[in-house]
Amino acid sequence: MNKTLVAEIISVGTELLLGEIIDTNAAYLAGKMRDRGIFVYRKSTVGDNMARLTAAIKEALLRADLVVLGGGLGPTDDDMTREAIAQVAGDEPYLDEKLLENLRLMFAARGRPMPDGNQKQAWLIKDAVALTNPVGTAAGWYVSLAEKIIVALPGPPHELKKMWQEQVEPRLPVSDKQIYHRTIHTSGIGESDLAARISQFTRLESPGIGTYARNSGVDVRVAAVAPTLAQARAIADPVIMEIEAILAPWIFGYDDETLVSAIMKLLLAAGQTFSCMESVTGGALAAEITDCPGISACFTGSLTAYSNSIKIQAGVAEELIGEHGAVSEPVALAMAQAARKMFNTDWGLATTGVAGPDPLEGKAPGTAWIAVAGPSLEWSQSVDWPGTRQMVKNRICRSVFQSFFKLLKEQKAR
Ligand code: AMP
Ligand code: MG
Repeated sequence: MNKTLVAEIISVGTELLLGEIIDTNAAYLAGKMRDRGIFVYRKSTVGDNMARLTAAIKEALLRADLVVLGGGLGPTDDDMTREAIAQVAGDEPYLDEKLLENLRLMFAARGRPMPDGNQKQAWLIKDAVALTNPVGTAAGWYVSLAEKIIVALPGPPHELKKMWQEQVEPRLPVSDKQIYHRTIHTSGIGESDLAARISQFTRLESPGIGTYARNSGVDVRVAAVAPTLAQARAIADPVIMEIEAILAPWIFGYDDETLVSAIMKLLLAAGQTFSCMESVTGGALAAEITDCPGISACFTGSLTAYSNSIKIQAGVAEELIGEHGAVSEPVALAMAQAARKMFNTDWGLATTGVAGPDPLEGKAPGTAWIAVAGPSLEWSQSVDWPGTRQMVKNRICRSVFQSFFKLLKEQKAR
């Protein structure tokens, strides 16, 4: 009989607790489990410490049917996920000949002798099935203990993902519930304003609705749970439609879509292209734009025109800079037009400003002019924010993309 699976994720590694790396594995696993109707109620992080790791596994087993561990399967003494699981299971690990042979072959294929330390990567306990690792030396474990399941996966994200998809998912029991979820992305509206507009829905028991302020704007997540995905969707969809009607002026996409992918969609539909000339953002606009798959169909390039002389060489009138200064509305507009001309595109985006904080003056806020020039319009805005250079640059990029998206939507409506 199928049952509702409750899961916990334990990320293992002192480097995670020291803030040296970000726990991307737990986020990946949580998303994958949600997609299978597995309810993740808790995630935790434990350092490379036998007593604390063993305690964490024992505690998780009191609450969850499925405990998934990521990390701690390396060959060194500080990797002790296997030892901890064996202790919790009350079992003694043994050396599995087949796994050992696999390891030897893997090292032989790399033309290297196998260090003794790697032997423990061939350990098993009687309740564990080994999950082979075609892209690394650490095999995973799938352990069945009475009604509970413990899964141990290697830490390197590409190994963990491959093993989860190819070897863990097919082994997992089917959940008797499914989760349907959709994330609606908005930009240009504040979280409290948005929340007030959809307040009649946020108090619903089902579907559950949450709002999140993010870099790109505010997200609305709608999720419903039912025995089948179709039933869950039938609960969520009518509410999603009502929310869409209310938030239509601000919605730019759903789920994996980004502001840049939304911009790309509008440009492709209009058969138009764009380019950039960046001063203060130093290429950050182009970096984010080129993260979007397929963008080459409408994006031709960006020039980082940081110094005045490069701005002038790129087509900005020297007198304009002399008269208004490089951080000014006329210069931002001239840069946007120069980008259009230089790259022969329909649209040009430009940024010019100071990212602050001025090392001599103390903390000055970043201040900038951003501009968009299009086939039949010019648009500009001054922006200033406090924060680190990174934050200021990031916010300038956000403003440019939000404004460009809005202008493209207005163009479409005309
Ligand atoms: P381990 O299996 O503990 O030897 O982990 C090997 C490497 O995987 C670590 O040094 C990290 O670079 C990476 N890693 C481990 N855990 C995580 C995690 N939760 N998120 C992202 N990377 C991780
Ligand atoms: Mg480790």
